[in-house]
Amino acid sequence: MQQRVLITGAAGFLGSHLCDALLAEDKLVVGVDNFSTGDAANLAHLKNEARFEFIEQDICTPFDCGRVNYVFNFASPASPVDYARLGIETLLVGSAGTLNTLEIAKRYDAAYLHASTSECYGDPDVHPQVETYWGRVNPIGPRSVYDEAKRFSEAAVMAYNRYHGLDTRLVRIFNTYGPRLQANDGRVISNLLIQALSGKPLTVYGNGSHTRSFCYVSDLIDGIVRLSKSNEVLPVNIGNPVEWTILECAREVLEVTGSKAEIVFKDLPVDDPARRKPDITKAKTLLGWEPKVSLREGLEMSVGYFRECVERAAAKA
Ligand code: NAD
Ligand code: UDP
Repeated sequence: MQQRVLITGAAGFLGSHLCDALLAEDKLVVGVDNFSTGDAANLAHLKNEARFEFIEQDICTPFDCGRVNYVFNFASPASPVDYARLGIETLLVGSAGTLNTLEIAKRYDAAYLHASTSECYGDPDVHPQVETYWGRVNPIGPRSVYDEAKRFSEAAVMAYNRYHGLDTRLVRIFNTYGPRLQANDGRVISNLLIQALSGKPLTVYGNGSHTRSFCYVSDLIDGIVRLSKSNEVLPVNIGNPVEWTILECAREVLEVTGSKAEIVFKDLPVDDPARRKPDITKAKTLLGWEPKVSLREGLEMSVGYFRECVERAAAKA
């Protein structure tokens, strides 16, 4: 029988790509979103797709989407700028929202996959980050509304697995980018591409020596779909292990866009993790997965989308 799946956060960057991937597998997809950080434009291409249904809904309020076989819980503000702006909402969606979606999975005996994050590792003193590392998170700092909500969600997912026998998965996602990333959400790749394409100075926080490991969206979605079909209950890192300093990343953006914009240095946000790099041995062994797209290729595939964002903003101004 055709599978019916629920995707929360469907109008967001990753949620909308996941909708496409699961529709490509001929599933019936129910997308839920309250548009707090998402955009209806990310789902506009599915307007006439009979296998896709959309419900505008805040997942912090209990809801029923009818029988489903799988729940993919992706709803949450995700960029440091968004979750600083929406602090209480972020705590709520990562607690009440996660519990409500776990209840749906329990009601229909559906499998459940939760979008967790490398933020669970905080500012790590183990490098690269392996899934067995418990992390170094500041529980009261400005990032804690996101980090602790995500850690609560992981605990809730494990509890539903232990106490209710729910069939669960946890993916720890490392920085992912690509088309449909919100142009104004302050994340580093969107900021740098938009700045380069509009000839504005590229903002590098701190001295640019902080590192991140950037995964292109198609690689990430491939890993998540594979994880959803595996039997692994414990967290699995999905990310690209090639580590870049932010300064190197800014220079790569300038090369890809051909921009002559300058690089300017700004204050480093509080508790900004110094290093991030996933150990992906588990994903490789368990899922036969590893990323295929280099940062250079991924940036090249993203430029068209961000150029359209710049042109749309210019037309509005
Ligand atoms: P996004 O902001 O583009 O998407 C999140 C979506 O969730 C938005 O459409 C938003 O409107 C929706 N949402 C938020 N609160 C909601 C609520 N209460 N009810 C219903 N919908 C709600 O962000 P994204 O990058 O697509 O992230 C998706 C998920 O992946 C998030 O859970 C995020 O924490 C996780 N994640 C993303 C990254 C990344 O690099 N993109 C890294 C780690 C984890
Ligand atoms: N960053 C930067 N310039 C920007 C935006 C972000 O130098 O315009 C830095 C930020 O301080 C962090 C890294 O880039 O060290 C990644 O930031 P992002 O907000 O994308 O995600 P994070 O991994 O911190 O959640």
